[in-house]
Amino acid sequence: MRRTRRVKILATLGPASSEEPMIRKLHEAGADVFRINMSHASHDLMRTLVRRIRNVEAEIGRPIGILADLQGPKLRVGAFADSSVDLEVGQEFTLDDNPAPGDNTRVNLPHPEILEAVQAGHRLLIDDGRLQLLAIEADDHHVRCRVTAGNKISNRKGVSLPDTILKSGPLTPKDRADIDALLTEEIDWLALSFVQRPEDLVEVRKIVQGKFPILSKIEKPQAVRHLDEIISMSDAIMVARGDLGVEMPVEDVPGIQKRITRAARRAGKPVVVATQMLESMISAPVPTRAEVSDVSTAVYEGADAVMLSAESAAGQYPVEAVAMMDAIAKKIERDPLYPGIVFAQRPAPLATEADAISLAAREISETLMPAAIVTYTATGTTGLRMARERPQLPIIGISPVVQTARRLSLVWGIHCVVTEDARDLDDMVSRACRIAMQEGFARPDDRILVTAGVPLRKPGATNMLRIAHIDPADADTK
Ligand code: PGA
Ligand code: MN
Repeated sequence: MRRTRRVKILATLGPASSEEPMIRKLHEAGADVFRINMSHASHDLMRTLVRRIRNVEAEIGRPIGILADLQGPKLRVGAFADSSVDLEVGQEFTLDDNPAPGDNTRVNLPHPEILEAVQAGHRLLIDDGRLQLLAIEADDHHVRCRVTAGNKISNRKGVSLPDTILKSGPLTPKDRADIDALLTEEIDWLALSFVQRPEDLVEVRKIVQGKFPILSKIEKPQAVRHLDEIISMSDAIMVARGDLGVEMPVEDVPGIQKRITRAARRAGKPVVVATQMLESMISAPVPTRAEVSDVSTAVYEGADAVMLSAESAAGQYPVEAVAMMDAIAKKIERDPLYPGIVFAQRPAPLATEADAISLAAREISETLMPAAIVTYTATGTTGLRMARERPQLPIIGISPVVQTARRLSLVWGIHCVVTEDARDLDDMVSRACRIAMQEGFARPDDRILVTAGVPLRKPGATNMLRIAHIDPADADTK
């Protein structure tokens, strides 16, 4: 099965999409990677979902990526005696370390580290910003605030702290327990929520010990300020617009999205644009025009992937939402304006063999217009550098490592195929020709470009570029 679009689709699984037939339908409709949200999935459910995705993968015969998304330090207030209270702008309201049920003067904030870190002048945004508080006095046991906007607070609502740097590390005890459970599963990407500083990545890398590549979700202003360092410490990036739009003014988010997308493309790290992309499709079979335009913006920017959250996890139209994203992406990528826009952001190559070969392959492909660029990539590094060139022709990634193929399913423009190691150079070239034909990218007499590293399997050693002609005699060799 061959997709005819370059941008990838990441679909979140949830109550509306946890059964195997539905996962299969979502994949067939266009989902390339599935997200398991650890905020909602128990360890048992996570294992069940992984098993079901792998069953679908085996049936369909295409590598599928799985991204496990850790909840991170999502902060919440405690409970109220009457489950919610009404407040007025201008009144005082206190968050404290007293576990007693709240009323209209105070409520518990069961996170001592926050009470310690908040200072007078900091903003506290409750319930996605629907209630806004300004700290006027703070000590280790309470934060006295003034209500600056909103009029209601209820049990266990989320708290965002755009002005406060938290001393806590990036992982909560729940995240650590989740990582322990994930370590024994076939997961391809680990997403970290609320990354604040580059050092957060150092800590997490120690714990996962190279088992997973790490995707950093950019959803705090602190992370936006350290963007380039965080990107360089991460393996992939997400523009997590849900929380980002709470922690920062919503009108800042589009510009930040562009900055993040461009910085990640420059670094050659996959970038996912996420949240509310087709939000109205949670309850309607068609999206708003504004949502269609939003998806198209991410596609024109050359993002690696676009994501569905509740649309596929809990909505009434999960398959329609994936199919709609697929349709929008295909249409935009065929727009005559698309190449000019997406290629204008093409970054300069680094002085490495992999980049020199990737740039050359792209330039040759523009002159010769071969059927495809075939890239041998054991670890995925060469595949990423080839995708960074955003060539106009399809990239076929060939890897002997199934984990590499699965990871690259998140990456722009790469169609991955798992095959055993080539024996030698001749075998490598004829194997590339055969796979390009079998996968529906090339026909007899077509040309393809092949890039590889010789000797094989040595990471980062891409040093060969070959123009190959598909011999009609090979057409029926399997
Ligand atoms: P979430 O992350 O769905 O886990 O909150 C994405 C976002 O905040 O946009
Ligand atoms: Mn978030």
